[in-house]
Amino acid sequence: MRAPAKVNLHLGVGPLRSDGKHELHTIYHAVSLFDLVTVERTDKQGVTVDVEGEHADEVPLNEDNLATQAVRAVAAVAGVDPAAHITLRKDIPVGGGLAGGSADAAAALVAADALWGAHLSQRELERLASGLGSDVAFLLHGGTALGTGHGEVVSPVLSRGEWHWVLAVAEMGLSTPTVYAELDRQRGDNQPDEPSVADGVIAALLAGDPVALGLALRNDLQSPALQLRPNLARVLDAGRELGAAGGIVSGSGPTVALLARTPGDAVRIASALAGYDVCRTVRRATGPAPGARIV
Ligand code: ATP
Repeated sequence: MRAPAKVNLHLGVGPLRSDGKHELHTIYHAVSLFDLVTVERTDKQGVTVDVEGEHADEVPLNEDNLATQAVRAVAAVAGVDPAAHITLRKDIPVGGGLAGGSADAAAALVAADALWGAHLSQRELERLASGLGSDVAFLLHGGTALGTGHGEVVSPVLSRGEWHWVLAVAEMGLSTPTVYAELDRQRGDNQPDEPSVADGVIAALLAGDPVALGLALRNDLQSPALQLRPNLARVLDAGRELGAAGGIVSGSGPTVALLARTPGDAVRIASALAGYDVCRTVRRATGPAPGARIV
């Protein structure tokens, strides 16, 4: 199975609710960085996992692994013993705000369904996905989509043409809960009534206009991420200097996604950015990319 990374083109975060969660209004956009996930039957009870790729040692091999949880969830619904081995070949930077763990979970759900011939409906897969994390349901579908609720209620959004991204991957270690906590601290008593809506992004996607999309990008987690990682501002500044149509912290960071106007511009920005020494690695990707698929 192959599953893509995502960036959020709009991430509107609603007020902190009494259950400690936030309502979201987000535009997900899957991009062409993929993890490869293999699930095989074994003779022994239990789910084991191997991870290959950069920062593989940061990925848990126990029940915390989202792919393991996905395989177990399918086994429980299908009524089979969970006896499987998972191999994750990570190309999505670990802990980058690109939802690599959620991508693995989406791929593992579909793989386990196929492996055991469970024939779960799309609805059932989506239900299991929502239980694993807010981004997992989107990564089953890929493309570009609106996410509401905690992000798990997904509906497709029309987008014209292909978008060219330069992803500046920073050193990991910016945890999602810490970034939300900083947002709540910054907002204090000034909590919004609702999450902000994504009208500007939706219109720009439909028009296929990179300049309009660059201007419309918005992430409510950007300010807290910049507070916690001031260096990320240098990446955004570098993107502006290099003529990117726009730039945004991806999800809770620390990856910064820069939108290029053309494929040639993406190549130019990526190679110039690598020389700026403001991030760990620079990757290029296009979107929208398809969701979890058997390859
Ligand atoms: P989030 O989706 O929480 O914003 P992220 O996109 O920043 O996360 P991920 O690569 O998904 O980054 O990993 C976040 C953490 O999730 C990792 O540090 C790791 O401990 C845990 N994790 C669980 N399962 C996986 C997996 N299959 N691949 C990568 N990380 C995983």
